[in-house]
Amino acid sequence: MIRKVKGTRDILPPETRLWSAVEGIALEVLGGFGYAEIRLPILEPTELFVRTVGEGTDIVSKEMYTFADRKGRSLTLRPEGTAGVARCFIENGLGQRPQPLRLCYLGPMFRYEKMQRGRYRQFAQIGIEILGAAAPAADVEVVLALHTFLSELGFDDLRIKLNNLGDPEDRERFIALLKGELGPSRDELCDDCRRRWTENPLRILDCKVPRCRELVAATTPVSEVASDPARAHVDAVEAALAELAIPVERAPRLVRGLDYYLRTVFEVVSPELGDDTVICGGGRYDRLIADLGGAPVPGVGFAIGEDRLVEVLPASFAGPRLERRAVALLPVGAAAVAPAAGLARDLVRSGVAVETEVTGRSLKAGLKWAAKIDAVVAVILGERELGDGVAVVRDLGRGEQSAVPLDRVVAKVVELLAGGGDR
Ligand code: ATP
Ligand code: MG
Repeated sequence: MIRKVKGTRDILPPETRLWSAVEGIALEVLGGFGYAEIRLPILEPTELFVRTVGEGTDIVSKEMYTFADRKGRSLTLRPEGTAGVARCFIENGLGQRPQPLRLCYLGPMFRYEKMQRGRYRQFAQIGIEILGAAAPAADVEVVLALHTFLSELGFDDLRIKLNNLGDPEDRERFIALLKGELGPSRDELCDDCRRRWTENPLRILDCKVPRCRELVAATTPVSEVASDPARAHVDAVEAALAELAIPVERAPRLVRGLDYYLRTVFEVVSPELGDDTVICGGGRYDRLIADLGGAPVPGVGFAIGEDRLVEVLPASFAGPRLERRAVALLPVGAAAVAPAAGLARDLVRSGVAVETEVTGRSLKAGLKWAAKIDAVVAVILGERELGDGVAVVRDLGRGEQSAVPLDRVVAKVVELLAGGGDR
């Protein structure tokens, strides 16, 4: 037996219906705020992520699926979406379009990580980016769009944590301060953090090892080192969100796993998954496009982990939207096959979900099968009925049936489905 690649998932029906419902609502709600869908390649040049996500990050140092193609070019399966959007913005001259540009994406991402609940090697993200807006109003809108989307899904218990990372210039001062404060306990840090010390010290704040956390808890928070303009920016974002009654907590030591963020960073956690399993991460990245060789175009965005989101969807969501009461079509005899298929087409065009018996079962076996697939109505097309120009429409809940002229079957089925709430 061939098994799936470690860290990938088979998402089966009916769970796939949850996924497409979530994606549909995402495109609708985020699209409502002006974020138009963009579809980008999954394969990108490796250099794109090295230059944007940052060499000292977990993603670039150990999580990327990188390989040489047949001509020896180094390619990487995208580990996140923002870098590709930035590349595309520059390559397609999107700065020529009316600014700011609002974009939304969804699709698979790849990271070579240790498998655990909510952590996969192929996972899906839903994200938005607003490019060309430096003012706090853009950060406010991004968090508002996120909050609105999550509320539409029925969430009311998620926590949004927000921090101020300051500007890149502040970061150098912060790192010097952090190293000074952690210096005496440097030997007590975990192996990863000792590597981070030289490669990317800010990442030490993100370490999940308990002793590292204790040591970090005693240091000056990164938000306190932010310059006055950065402080004014994030304070303005926070004030506007408070005015909108969007509950946001300050988390003065929060950092994200990507180097390009500055000023505003935020994440969303759920009580069910706990603080270490983040559902959404986001923030501002004003230098990203310039660092890639483009114009100095500021940006803000977020990325939701769809696997984690679907896992904690409120029960209120799973119910009604998942309902799909099918009609079983039971042709009996070869002459009924084409009329049944034609009826299937008419029903589907009228918005009714059907499943047609196509294995040649007898009527009795066909009715058993209809019960097994939870059909609510069965339409029986036998040779005799067809000769009379009728079909038998059977309400499987009530066990009642009647012969209905073929051109009235669709209307009859629709009527039964509309009234069949007591099943
Ligand atoms: P974490 O701290 O959980 O490793 P991250 O900081 O690496 O997350 P981001 O790069 O900000 O995550 O990605 C945004 C979101 O994508 C995360 O909040 C999470 O929901 C989701 N995500 C990231 N990595 C994975 C993964 N390996 N499996 C499933 N979802 C993931
Ligand atoms: Mg990670």
